[in-house]
Amino acid sequence: MQTTFVKSPNFTPGRKTYTPIAIVIHIMEGSLEGTDSWFKSTESVVSAHYGVGIDGEVHQYVLETDSAWHAGRVNAPTWSLIKPAGNGAYINPNYYTIGIEHEGNENTDWSDATYQSSSSMIRDIAQRWGIPIDRQHIVGHHEIYSLKACPGTKVDFNKLISMASGTPVPLGPVATGVNKVQGPGKVTTSARVNIRLQPNTTVPIANVVPGNIQLAYDGYTNNGESVSGNSKWYYTNEGNWFWSGGVS
Ligand SMILES: [Zn+2]
Repeated sequence: MQTTFVKSPNFTPGRKTYTPIAIVIHIMEGSLEGTDSWFKSTESVVSAHYGVGIDGEVHQYVLETDSAWHAGRVNAPTWSLIKPAGNGAYINPNYYTIGIEHEGNENTDWSDATYQSSSSMIRDIAQRWGIPIDRQHIVGHHEIYSLKACPGTKVDFNKLISMASGTPVPLGPVATGVNKVQGPGKVTTSARVNIRLQPNTTVPIANVVPGNIQLAYDGYTNNGESVSGNSKWYYTNEGNWFWSGGVS
């Protein structure tokens, strides 16, 4: 894929002892041009490895072998592969992720050109680093840092992953009769918790989160599948679900 290099001074050389294990999807909340100048400025102290324009143009700001400053803060992560560092702290995810920004804002529909460029970059990056192309390894920024909605709800992760991997991603059955009650919050996993596409144990498991990890949710339903007499399930911004009996 043809990329234009727009060097950002905002990065940490190398990756400590880590290699990239995942790709983090971001939204620019602005234009590709504006992001170029923002990442070129030392005042912003932020960057990403790549930026994708609405017309599919790709800019690279930081080498993949260096750590861009795109996902260094962690708050109530729902991402199952986050690396804990003990005492509720985490290894800086910048060391083991690659960040891709996308032109537009949280409420803009993604263009076909954006999907095309982003998915072909994901495929290339995944091949270079041996990263599996699935929902555990292609994650939204919000799943690491819950205080931001980035990349918003417009990006269809299943479509992006399906285009990148060349295989359709099976979707779970559509939940019927599930009343969502909105209201964000945080819970802690009591033991291993399965993250699913629907509030139902009959659909495949998307992720498994270990015990004692804080999970952010955006709301809940009281009429998911009843497990041990408890039918309350929480949902996340990405549309995933976990059973309330596994958390406290
Ligand atoms: Zn972001």
